[in-house]
Amino acid sequence: MDLRHDARELSDDLVALRRALHQVPELGLDLPRTQETVLAALDGLPLEISTGTGLSSVTAVLRGQGGDGGGPVVLLRGDMDALPVTENTGAAFSSRHEGRMHACGHDLHTAGLVGAARLLSAHRDRLAGDVVFMFQPGEEGHDGAGHMIAEGVLEAAGRPVAEAYGLHVVSAMIPRGQFVSRPGPIMAAADGLFVRVIGAGGHGSRPYAALDPVPAACEMVTALQTMVTRRFDVFDPVVVTVGNFHAGTQRNIIPPDARFEATIRSFSKEARERVAELAVPLCRDIAAAHGLEAEVTYSPEYPVTVNDPAGHEFVAETVREVFGEERFSVATDPVTGSEDFSRVLDRVPGAFVFLGATFADEPDSAPYNHSPEASFDDSVVADGAALLASLAARRLSGVGA
Ligand SMILES: [Zn+2]
Repeated sequence: MDLRHDARELSDDLVALRRALHQVPELGLDLPRTQETVLAALDGLPLEISTGTGLSSVTAVLRGQGGDGGGPVVLLRGDMDALPVTENTGAAFSSRHEGRMHACGHDLHTAGLVGAARLLSAHRDRLAGDVVFMFQPGEEGHDGAGHMIAEGVLEAAGRPVAEAYGLHVVSAMIPRGQFVSRPGPIMAAADGLFVRVIGAGGHGSRPYAALDPVPAACEMVTALQTMVTRRFDVFDPVVVTVGNFHAGTQRNIIPPDARFEATIRSFSKEARERVAELAVPLCRDIAAAHGLEAEVTYSPEYPVTVNDPAGHEFVAETVREVFGEERFSVATDPVTGSEDFSRVLDRVPGAFVFLGATFADEPDSAPYNHSPEASFDDSVVADGAALLASLAARRLSGVGA
């Protein structure tokens, strides 16, 4: 089977599907129109389809007919949600909804996964195992992957998924058509720190008669930066960014409380656990040192996305074989963004790979994912579909096993 060739034949269809999805972006876990579009696009394929109960996911199982009905199960994932951004790309197929845009390219992922389902369906007589297609809502901070795992996507074929692969397009930095990945951590863990420093309000001229939460909260913000540089391995980095800080109403009033929130990124389980252990008492103890109290919540969000070394090698080998040596490169560093596909790779070996979808000749200066100007070149969708299909096909025909 020549999946790359077959994918090229599908390209016009997949581009049309991507553009249709692009015009009606939906947010979060509830994507009814997107779900409808995906179901229509899968219609007629030999798939066992189920939809989510707590979210508008689509899970499709393809039964390979090239074995004894057992064989491994490979999961392929595409996320489907958009972002609360107003599009400013000028594309003819721009979002029809103000304040909603497929600014992270998940419309390309959805179309690509439909493509992979079509490609593999046409060759199911050659597959000695099953494929689970995971069409996932709510990647952008809604933990759609966690919800789909809770609803059983990893057991959708009736036996556990053995390997999982996912792909992400980028509108900048990576030249068009280039596949990039790395073994080990590829995207950061993201967690949240929520702090409320509780004092006692009063007149700004009489701080001794009040309990001023502002200086203590400021001290926490700088102490968190010192914590990063003094208590963490410089070769296992951590990022703490306080993204909001609110206190008070007027300069001569001491407010009763001060609040701030931070996002925390880390690249190993160890560093992630250590931030949670250190940041909470750091804030509480600074409050106590000044006679104040602090409510501190550390909220785990997405784990580190970790590529299993064998899974990464298999992706690299597959890209080289299907597209040629020059189409794959190994990233030196992980990306500081995070991904809920990490939930899947936490449980199942596999890999996550980036695909350059940049229009610009100078990818470094093109608007990046999440920007209102981010434009994705959908001529890469067919290649994305071919890669996902090839990973499953090669695995289920024993190649690279
Ligand atoms: Zn994304």
